[in-house]
Amino acid sequence: MTSDSFHNAIERELVRPSWQLRFADELEVRFESDTQPQRNRNMVVAGLIAALIYSLFLINDYSFRPNEFWLSVLIRGLVVIPFGLPILWAIYKGVSGGARETLMASTVVVAMVASCVIFISSRSPYSYLDIFSFGLILVVGNVLYSLRFQYALVSSLLSVAIMVYFVAGYEPMPVEVKRLAIFTLCAKAIFTLIANYRLEASERKAYLLLLRETHRAGHALRSNAELSKLSLTDPLTELANRRQFDTLFNLYWQQAVEARATVGLMVIDIDCFKAYNDHYGHLQGDHCLKQVASALRAHADNACVVARFGGEEFVVLSMGQSHQTVLAQAEQLRHAVEALQLPHHGGAVPANVTISVGGAVLQPTEDVSASQLFRAADQALYEAKRQGRNRVVMINSRDALSGDGLGRSIQ
Ligand code: GH3
Ligand code: MG
Ligand code: MG
Repeated sequence: MTSDSFHNAIERELVRPSWQLRFADELEVRFESDTQPQRNRNMVVAGLIAALIYSLFLINDYSFRPNEFWLSVLIRGLVVIPFGLPILWAIYKGVSGGARETLMASTVVVAMVASCVIFISSRSPYSYLDIFSFGLILVVGNVLYSLRFQYALVSSLLSVAIMVYFVAGYEPMPVEVKRLAIFTLCAKAIFTLIANYRLEASERKAYLLLLRETHRAGHALRSNAELSKLSLTDPLTELANRRQFDTLFNLYWQQAVEARATVGLMVIDIDCFKAYNDHYGHLQGDHCLKQVASALRAHADNACVVARFGGEEFVVLSMGQSHQTVLAQAEQLRHAVEALQLPHHGGAVPANVTISVGGAVLQPTEDVSASQLFRAADQALYEAKRQGRNRVVMINSRDALSGDGLGRSIQ
């Protein structure tokens, strides 16, 4: 589902008639898979509590029908509990949503059959009073388990039918008590089913609202990420732009201060680019800029950042490199642009597009600033241009720091 259609699907569900619980297929699958782990855990805990309380009813069996006590032990302890515990284990391990609801609903029905068998097994005068506690079985299925509504409905109808069947054939019970017992169980079925329906409806509504908010938040985050990428990237060359470079330059500088690492910077400028533009036109000029930019990006192996500084100028930033390594890297970049063999017939002599590179490497300390490094590399570039272009000039760190003339220090 695309982001928009997903959003529409959620909105459609939110305005749908509220009596209809199930979502449209795709959303229903997602609802099941998102809620499954928590629901499985809840079911297992609820099942264990129900099993414990169901077993505690043995106390009641003992006091009301002591003669049939061992039958109760047999039915509760050797039939119902061994039926229920493997189901809880299977749900704990993970089963499909449909299987989970069917299995849990079956424990309700089995508990009802077992309770009825226990109560009709005895003729003792108060045995049938038990019947008024059978509504608890419906409370377990419809409220404690919170079975999905259709499973709650089916298991409740079956439970009521089973109880009616056993009660009808149980002679020691006066007919008005039978009527009262059946009426009470039906009323409990209705009340707990209403509660069950409301619980499921509000769980589904809460899920939709949460999904909508999560989707909106994700959408906003994605748009923000796209916007910030746009604001940090040069649209023509797709390199980092000046803004990103400034930020990263300061960041790497700080990191280098802490790590006592060197920072290397190259300032690169396309030679005689004005003449290129004048000769070939601005569009071809743009094309040339793109090609130079990709050559720089492709060959700046150890660089942290390759950015377009502005116009036909680029910068390459690296960390932890020696003067010699940065020099070799700069030569590699110069060669890479030369190797593009982009014709430049705008000058006096036909030639190819070339670049001049000024570089410097400094060890940052508290007293040495990033702008000193930039100034040094820029001065080296100026020197490269002065010496005739298509070359690399590196300034050594001593001269970069003293701001000394470049004449003696260039390589
Ligand atoms: P030098 O070798 O001394 O660097 O000479 P140059 O001609 O390259 O330098 P100058 O600064 O005189 O000219 C830079 C030219 O770069 C001028 C401008 O038209 C061109 N330019 C700057 N940005 C762009 C751009 O985005 N696209 C195009 N096509 N040209 C650009
Ligand atoms: Mg320039
Ligand atoms: Mg230039």
